[in-house]
Amino acid sequence: MASVCIIGSGNWGSAIAKIVGANAKKQSSFADRVTMYVYEEIIDGKKLTEIINQTHENVKYLPGHKIPENVIAIPDVMEAAKDADILIFVVPHQFIQRICSILQGKIKPTAVGLSLIKGFNKKEGGGIELISHIISRQLQIPISVLMGANLASEVANEMFCETTIGCKDKMMAPIFRNLIQTSYFRVVVVEDVDSVECCGALKNIVACGAGFVDGLGLGDNTKAAVIRLGLMEMIKFIDVFFPGGKLTTFFESCGVADLITTCYGGRNRKVSEAFVKTGKSIETLEKEMLKGQKLQGPFTAEEVNYMLKLKNMENRFPLFTAIHRICIGELKPTDLIDCIRSHPEHM
Ligand code: NAD
Ligand code: 13P
Repeated sequence: MASVCIIGSGNWGSAIAKIVGANAKKQSSFADRVTMYVYEEIIDGKKLTEIINQTHENVKYLPGHKIPENVIAIPDVMEAAKDADILIFVVPHQFIQRICSILQGKIKPTAVGLSLIKGFNKKEGGGIELISHIISRQLQIPISVLMGANLASEVANEMFCETTIGCKDKMMAPIFRNLIQTSYFRVVVVEDVDSVECCGALKNIVACGAGFVDGLGLGDNTKAAVIRLGLMEMIKFIDVFFPGGKLTTFFESCGVADLITTCYGGRNRKVSEAFVKTGKSIETLEKEMLKGQKLQGPFTAEEVNYMLKLKNMENRFPLFTAIHRICIGELKPTDLIDCIRSHPEHM
């Protein structure tokens, strides 16, 4: 009987806890009790972990939805993870290294991981690294990934969607699927793990571009062009920096579908639109609009730019580069279209 721990309890972490809690309870191959690491906060004088354990609702990050009673909120990540056979990682990517350093040597050596985290990490010696690679290296366990067109609020509302699990281990793939799949959340497993994860990270940059287009009032054709050029840059980036993947992966939920949903319904799009319309900084808007939830796109744009600069390749990725430079104030949002007018795709 495998015990499961969810590391993270934000908007997506809480939505996935609803699914995993229910599936673990239903299936005898999983222990009923699912632990969930919650970064402790005080809400109206009360600890968030206590609120979750008493009301079974994450009132801050997923209000209005019940988390199954067998999901137990725990504020100490080591305590939450120590007995788990399956670790599900779902924190904003800027926090993963600190969590891994706490867990190093403290988890079961036989544990396996599933990362739902979208983003990269800048390596000290140069270059960037996938989040699943950091977890795997630091914790010495195999990591699969789950990415898809999965806006958390819609999944929590049980609206039909698909997701992609990238898993090379043929024994683990059906176990992950049993833990995650429901009648409204359909899983496709592929072996092209790095491409699945790269898609999840890179589409958040494009979503910022889509938000800029919305903020500038440039219309649906322009937005479609930004999405298409974004897709082409995603394909090229993965081919150059994480080669060996399959083109078919881009047709899975983690590819085109996640790109579309995020460019229409995601937080990165929404905040980027407001960035253009209000002239406020991204950090200010994140605080004002997201109520503690975190944006991944601007950080990811910076991480990708770090790699492109290092390899002198900014001119081969003009959309990614322009989005980063707009986010950090080096360019105005109105410069976006001039930056992609002579895109390599048009030559
Ligand atoms: P979120 O954006 O709701 O972030 C808030 C979470 O971060 C909270 O749980 C908060 O307690 C935690 N936090 C804040 N400060 C912290 C700290 N110092 N250390 C540790 N945790 C801290 O989080 P989310 O939406 O669950 O996103 C997690 C990952 O899932 C991201 O990589 C995101 O891209 C991805 N994702 C999100 C969605 C979505 O619709 N929300 C969908 C698919 C994938
Ligand atoms: P946002 O972070 O832009 O809301 O995107 C969520 C997501 O990754 C949907 O799959």
